[in-house]
Amino acid sequence: MMNTFISPIKIHFGEGSIQKISDECAALGVDRVIVFADPFLVTSGAIKRIEHVLTEQHIQYSIYDNIVPEPPLSAGDAAVEAVRASKAQLVIAAGGGSALDMAKAAAVLALHDGKISDYLNLTGTKKLEHKGLPKILIPTTAGTGSEVTDIAVFTLESSKDVITHHFLLADAAIIDPEFTYSVPARVTAATGVDAFTHALEAYTSIQSSTLTDTLALEAVTLIAKNIRKAVWQGHDKEARRAMAWGSTIAGLAFFNAGTAGVHGLAYPLGGLFHISHGESNALMLPYVYEFILPACIDKMEKVAFAMGVGTKTASTRDNALSALQAIRDLTRDVGIPSSLSAYGIKAQDIDSLADDAIKQTRLLNRSPKALNIDDIRNIYQRALEG
Ligand code: NAD
Repeated sequence: MMNTFISPIKIHFGEGSIQKISDECAALGVDRVIVFADPFLVTSGAIKRIEHVLTEQHIQYSIYDNIVPEPPLSAGDAAVEAVRASKAQLVIAAGGGSALDMAKAAAVLALHDGKISDYLNLTGTKKLEHKGLPKILIPTTAGTGSEVTDIAVFTLESSKDVITHHFLLADAAIIDPEFTYSVPARVTAATGVDAFTHALEAYTSIQSSTLTDTLALEAVTLIAKNIRKAVWQGHDKEARRAMAWGSTIAGLAFFNAGTAGVHGLAYPLGGLFHISHGESNALMLPYVYEFILPACIDKMEKVAFAMGVGTKTASTRDNALSALQAIRDLTRDVGIPSSLSAYGIKAQDIDSLADDAIKQTRLLNRSPKALNIDDIRNIYQRALEG
């Protein structure tokens, strides 16, 4: 068996690593930068940590904080225009996945013709030809893993689509956990379960490898152990650090092994019902795994041990079932509702959700158990009342 693992991104990790911006700017030889910043960083003043480093290096910069959560195409197009107008030589982005994805796409498209829609995976008609402007990505949620992936996600009317190409990879990712201390409980919960989902789906993906398995299982361990503390005692620096690292290595795992059915069924919840990416994944996670469990029972036994609920005397099946229960407990304990109806979704919405989910073949094809339209409808049905 043969696998390929792509690891082209320089990663700086740790409290204070934001200082590394100066080394990266020097290495790239830039003196004019546009900084994409989540609006919270601007209002809270946290952006000053970045401005300080740039000022010290005499680098001219402008700040773009017109970040829209779960960005629609229009937000992406406005970002592309802003980078074109800025004449910047480098794009730095600090924020959650929304800011990072807008910046990644804008840095590449600024030096191409056309709009975001021209380059989308499902419906785009143009091909990217070069990497555009260099990018430094600084995640402030833990998280999407966007800092180490080649994907930018955009929200459409009924679902989501991506631009995906290695040109979107960062030149450097700087993960400074201090930026995540201010993330409120609900966002910590949603983004943390998102990272957990990345790890789990990469681990059970049919494209997984020994290397992605190692990263994914370590991320499962870190996140399962620390997410409750990060949500309910957000000042706990150790928990925040573990979540930040867990999110990044889960990102490396899924960048290589891919995500699958949970994301496929979650995307329409974002498009049709504007449920955040993290909460959409958290909602679908137990129900999709309930369905695919028989096809990944050995791996789910290892997940049980990674989550601290496996026992040596139990059968593989019973340990796998314990992992499933531990996943349900995890999403409940961090306060995420467990039913579609809690978000106002009704039985008559299931057909439209399933019609959109079945189009996500890129994701569904990686599932250890095939999902057809009837399976998808049944999974949504199970999730309806929880
Ligand atoms: P987000 O970027 O939308 O941010 C969520 C909220 O958290 C916002 O209100 C933001 O202002 C706030 N926030 C961010 N950082 C903060 C901080 N340090 N302190 C306080 N508040 C803060 O949420 P997200 O979950 O990080 O990103 C979601 C987007 O990422 C979606 O569009 C999703 O589809 C995409 N995504 C991309 C990838 C990828 O590989 N590119 C992977 C998964 C998800």
